[in-house]
Formats: sequence, C-alpha cells, structure tokens
Amino acid sequence: MPTETFEFQVEARQLLQLMIHSVYSNKDVFLRELVSNASDALDKLRLAALRDDTLDADVSDLHIELEIDQDARTLTVRDNGIGMSYDEVGQLIGTIANSGTAEFLRELREAQDAAGAEGLIGQFGVGFYSGFMVADEVTLLTRRAGERQGTRWTSRGEGTYTLEPVDDAPRGTSVTLHLKPADPDNQLHDYASVWKIKEIVKRYSDFITWPIRLVGGTGDEGETAGSQTLNSMKALWARSREEVSEEEYHELYKHIGHDWREPLETIQLQAEGTFEYQALLFVPSHAPHDLFNQNYRHGLQLYVKRVFIMDDCEALLPSYLRFVKGVVDAQDLSLNVSREILQQDRHIRMMQRRLTKKVLSSVKNMMTEDTERYATLWREFGAVLKEGLVTDPDNRDALLAVTSFTTTQGDDGTVTLRQYVERMPEEQDDIYYITGESRESIDNSPHMEAFRERGIEVLLLTDPVDEVWVDAVGEYEGKRLRSVAKGEIDLGAREDDRSEDEKEQQAEAYAGLLGWMRERLQEDVKEVRLSTRLTVSPACLVADANDLTPALENMYRAMGQEVPRTRRILELNPDHALVKGLNEAYGHREDPSDLTDTAELLYSLAVLAEGGRPKDPARFVQLMADRLERTL
Ligand code: ADP
Ligand code: MG
Repeated sequence: MPTETFEFQVEARQLLQLMIHSVYSNKDVFLRELVSNASDALDKLRLAALRDDTLDADVSDLHIELEIDQDARTLTVRDNGIGMSYDEVGQLIGTIANSGTAEFLRELREAQDAAGAEGLIGQFGVGFYSGFMVADEVTLLTRRAGERQGTRWTSRGEGTYTLEPVDDAPRGTSVTLHLKPADPDNQLHDYASVWKIKEIVKRYSDFITWPIRLVGGTGDEGETAGSQTLNSMKALWARSREEVSEEEYHELYKHIGHDWREPLETIQLQAEGTFEYQALLFVPSHAPHDLFNQNYRHGLQLYVKRVFIMDDCEALLPSYLRFVKGVVDAQDLSLNVSREILQQDRHIRMMQRRLTKKVLSSVKNMMTEDTERYATLWREFGAVLKEGLVTDPDNRDALLAVTSFTTTQGDDGTVTLRQYVERMPEEQDDIYYITGESRESIDNSPHMEAFRERGIEVLLLTDPVDEVWVDAVGEYEGKRLRSVAKGEIDLGAREDDRSEDEKEQQAEAYAGLLGWMRERLQEDVKEVRLSTRLTVSPACLVADANDLTPALENMYRAMGQEVPRTRRILELNPDHALVKGLNEAYGHREDPSDLTDTAELLYSLAVLAEGGRPKDPARFVQLMADRLERTL
C-alpha cells in the first residue's frame, strides 16, 4: 500500500489551527500529554498480555523513552506499549471522538478572542495535538501488539495527514516532534534542551508508574543523556501526605482525570488490616458536561500492588459519587480480577462503603471549614449527590447533613436543613419546599403567595432529582418535608383572619359554585375548594399529599412507564374579585351553563400560573379573545 493522504475531520482541523498558532502560554504541557498517552499504552499492553495468553508480547521491560536530537532539532517520545493498527491511527489521531473536546470547540467558537481561547485550552486539554504547539511537523510510527505491520502517520497540522504502512516498526508508538526553531530570546523554552526536558518530566510526570528514560543524544550544556530514568515512579497514594506536594497530587489528577484544571479537593485513605488498600481520590473543580448521560464513563482506577488493573472501575464508588476521580491500590486482589467479580466481591463492597464515607466526611469538612469551596462543590455536583438520598439509605443522614438549598430567606440565599429547622418559628411544624424547573417559575408560583405574605421560609428545589428524594426522605428530625403545592395548608390563625363562624358562612355561600364547577371540570380535577394559600391569584392547582406531581408524572412517562393521569384539586381564592363575581353570577342563575366557559378559563389560568400548558391551547385562546373583546 502506498502512502495515502487524508483530510482531518473539521473539528480536528480547527483544533490543530489553534495549536499551531498557539496562544497558550504554558507550552510545556505538550510533553505531559505525550507521556500520559505513552503511559496509558503501556498499561493497556500489560493488561492485554495478562488477559490474553495468545498475545505473544514481551512485557518484561515496559518503559517510555525520550530522545533528543539537537542537530535535527527533534524530540521523540517512544513507548513499547499496545500501539495502534492502521485503522486505529486514522480513527484516534485523525478525528476527535472525545466529547469533551467537542464541547471545548463549541465554547472556543464562542470565546473568540485569544485570552478566552487560552483559558479554554487550560481547561480542556487537547492531548496528542498539543505537540503542534512546539513542533511544525509530527511523525508517529506505531505497531499494534500482535500485528505484523506498522503504520507511519505524518502531518504538519495543516488540514491533511498521511498514512503509510511500514514493515519493520517496533511494537508500540514513537512520536517524533520536529521542533520549531528555538526562540533566541527565550532559551528556557528550548525543548531540544536536556535540562528543559528533565525539568518538565520531573514537574509533570514524576508519578508515572513506568520508567521514563532519557536516551542517547548530547544535551546543550554538554550533558550526556546516556540512559537515565527521570521519574521517581513513586505511587503518591502509598505515601504520607507530608511527603507529597500539592502540585504533585494535582499533576496526578490531571493525568488520570484527563483534565487540565486543578482539582477542588484531594482525599487520601490508607486502610490497614486484613484487607489493605490505599486510595487517592479527587473531586474535580468542574462537572463534566456529560455527567447525566447514560453512558458517562465513571469510576476509579484500580491498581493491585502498584500494577494498573483497570480504568473506570464503577464498583468502587456508588453512582451518586461518579464525579470523583482517583486511584485505589489494593494489596490482596488477583491481578486477573474482572469487573463481574468485582461487583460481587465482599471486600470490594466494604471498600466502597468506606470510600463513600470518606468522601462524604470530606464534603462535610469542606462545608464547615471552607464554605467557598463547598459552595463550588455543591454548585457543580449537588444534583448528583442528591441521587444518593434516594439510592443510599445507609448514608442518608450524612448526605442530608451536607445538602444545601436555595431558599426564600437568609443572607446568601442558601440553607441546610439543620439551619432551616433551627430558625423556624415555634408554631411551624413542617419544612416547606416547592419544586419547579427554575427559580423564576417558582418565585411567581401562586402556591407561594400565603407563604410569602407570612414570611414563612420555603426551600426552592429545581433539580429533577428533588421531586424524587423529598418523597423518599419524607422528614428531617421529626419534621415533615411538605410541598407548598400539596395537600391542605394550615398556616395557623392570624389576627386579621376570619373567625371560624365567618369561615363557615363563607363555605356555605360557595358550596353551590364549588359543587357545580367540580362537575363541569371533572375530567381535569377531582375537587374544587376554597384556598388558604392564595392572596393575589384567583386560583391554583394542588395535589393531594400522596399524589404524583406533574413533573414526576412527566418523568415517569419519559422513562417509558405507564402512569395514570393524576387529577388535581382546584383551589379558588374567595377574596379575589373574579371568584367573588363568579359566585354571585352563579347565585343569580337558574341555569348556570353560560358560566361554563368562565369556569374553564379559571382552571386554565391556574394551569398557566404554575408554568403548565392548557390542555387545548387553541380553545383557550379563543375563549380568552372572546372575553377581551367584550371588555372593549
Ligand atoms: P486522550 O488521551 O484523552 O484519549 P489524546 O489526544 O491524547 O486523547 O489521544 C487520543 C487517542 O490516541 C488515545 O485515546 C489513544 O487511543 C491513542 N493514542 C495516543 N497516543 C498513543 C500511544 N502512544 N499509544 C497508543 N495509543 C495512543
Ligand atoms: Mg491523552
């Protein structure tokens, strides 16, 4: 097969353009990316060799080599890992499959200016292509373990790349960067310098568990590289916290999290005893955009006695902690352990329990010691953590303790359940909340009227999971969690309230209208009654305490479950002129059927007020237009 030329996929081309004209000031990180890929390739080969005895691969000396050629101005990063097949090179290097990168490009288009772009590169990382920040041509030679033929890939990053089969390629991958001319004004950034390369490896890749060797070549400072191992390969998780710098932890995080940003929190756990293991966990500072996708890949890296076993090991943490990244290194697991075995292993389950508690207690610490960081954590991951309130009853209390809410009261507008209960007036028995899609729709909800008027604090719940956990949890410290849109609300008597007698009279006066409306609207509502929660709006819809809310109903339907349509209760505000007028009109009629349209409109208004949509919008518009016309 001859050399063939291919075009980069559009996104890939954009990304390359960005790298070539790089605005990113910290170009050193290109080496971290290439070393990281090499390290992954070595991990993969080790595993493949372990699992597949037909794979005839010598894994006795897996390592990474860096080679500088000062005269040719090249830097080569070589590994004897898994390698890539011809097709894989095209797929993996020629296109952008990584959804994070796609997201990156979208944001990049929006950022437009150079400073914005720089910030974004730092946030997303762009892996292999970052080589083009320092090189004007990149060659990759690779052969996949178990295959005979190798592949050479070359590109100047300008829209096309070439692929060529090669007969005598060594196993693994070598990436050769044809470095851009050194900047005479900035000798410190010459990547053909032995000193510089050593410094970068030490800074960014020291923890890599495979030896990174500098081979051949003579360095500028007259230093012969010989063959020296540049990294200490220390497993950071096995060392005590005092011995490891914050920066070292962060670089490890960036490697395993494929994230260029600093983590929000580093959590270490070293368990001794019969089942010994070490864990080093990280809470990222930003939620990935696909955290709620079905196929979001999560889980920790599993090592057994310092040997990498698998990525994305879900069994180590519950799903509601899927945003946590990190490494777990166990002493007494078989190197051959499979995912299926892990799911059932008693020790793994114990480990999961312990790690979960550890993460939750770190969150708790953040909450008490560093409120700003806690606020970031909650903003990014609160919606995921709350899933645990439903799925993990054992840790429910711990989770409730770190859950915070936006609220109608308080200085910064957030509150914990404990704080809510502490500041709740003595005569209040329940914890009130409202659910909805957004803060705005909630703020204007008629259900809030009486609460607002009386200054009763209401928790504002806007995450989809909120509907579910409030039902599952039910109460906190003996106080019921109650929706302001469910059941009858008794907010206690106030001075200007009607007396019991007056109320009874009112009930009698309205009895006819309520009964008639219920009959008219029976397809949609199961009851019509006078409201205690409205002060401004004419009507609202409420659910029975045990009914599904419309949002939940929709959620179940979206999940493909059959749910009967819940009819709700229509509440009328007896102090509203429209309601009063309707009642009077009803009282004067022998045959009230000409009031049916008004009753229907009143119901539709209640639907609209809570952000819903009238059952038959066209009919609603017609009725409304008709009424308006009569006002002219
Ligand atoms: P990422 O590492 O985040 O997946 P990269 O751009 O760094 O993104 O690499 C893209 C893909 O190319 C990798 O996922 C891997 O499959 C492949 N790849 C890159 N470098 C190597 C290598 N040295 N050996 C084998 N495969 C590699
Ligand atoms: Mg990479």
